[in-house]
Amino acid sequence: MLGEAIIKGMAVTARNFLGSYVSDERLTTIQYPDERQSLSEAVRNFPFLVYDAGDWQKGLRCVACQICEKECPPKCIYIVKSKDKKPDYIGKPQLYPAIFDIDTSVCMSCQICVEVCPFDAIKMDTEFELSTADRFGGLLLHKDQLAKPNTYYHKIHPTEAGEVDARLAAEKAKVEAKAKADAEAKAKAAAAKPAPVLAAAAPGAAPSLAAKPA
Ligand code: SF4
Ligand code: SF4
Repeated sequence: MLGEAIIKGMAVTARNFLGSYVSDERLTTIQYPDERQSLSEAVRNFPFLVYDAGDWQKGLRCVACQICEKECPPKCIYIVKSKDKKPDYIGKPQLYPAIFDIDTSVCMSCQICVEVCPFDAIKMDTEFELSTADRFGGLLLHKDQLAKPNTYYHKIHPTEAGEVDARLAAEKAKVEAKAKADAEAKAKAAAAKPAPVLAAAAPGAAPSLAAKPA
């Protein structure tokens, strides 16, 4: 029937409106900002930078590869690479962002930066109370404002953060196992290498070094 969906929708609205006088279950609105709904894990707003451990400067996962900067459709990410290096989460020396800015007045929350980051360094935040009277400067977020701990990532996206942690731990274990195997192979090769010995010298000649047969 034409308009059937509209009638059904109006019936739901009327039932909730009248029911709200007798039952809290029919109250479909809340007194924001005094009351707040818990957000779904799927909510996303603007990106933030994840750091591990206690020091946000040392613990930033970002290695300033600039892939996200290149892939961001509206070009609202601005990165300047460091001149020096710091160890990443597996101890490998890496560059880091001397400057990392995101202009949230331009960002369209597409999440492409998150998808392309090979280091799980950038994730989507759920924070939405970002209103400011300074439309441009106030919405240009710098590295110190973007950096948030992994514990925060777990709080807002627990399932996803757990999966990322498990993947990073597996990668780290793989790298450590390979480094251990390489070190053992090197030590074994050094032990098997013939030690130099003094060759028998001809009468009157100076002694010379020769390899000892295995
Ligand atoms: S969410 Fe999209 S628009 Fe925003 S910074 Fe990331 S890639 Fe750019
Ligand atoms: S956030 Fe990720 S993709 Fe962007 S520069 Fe840092 S490491 Fe590279």
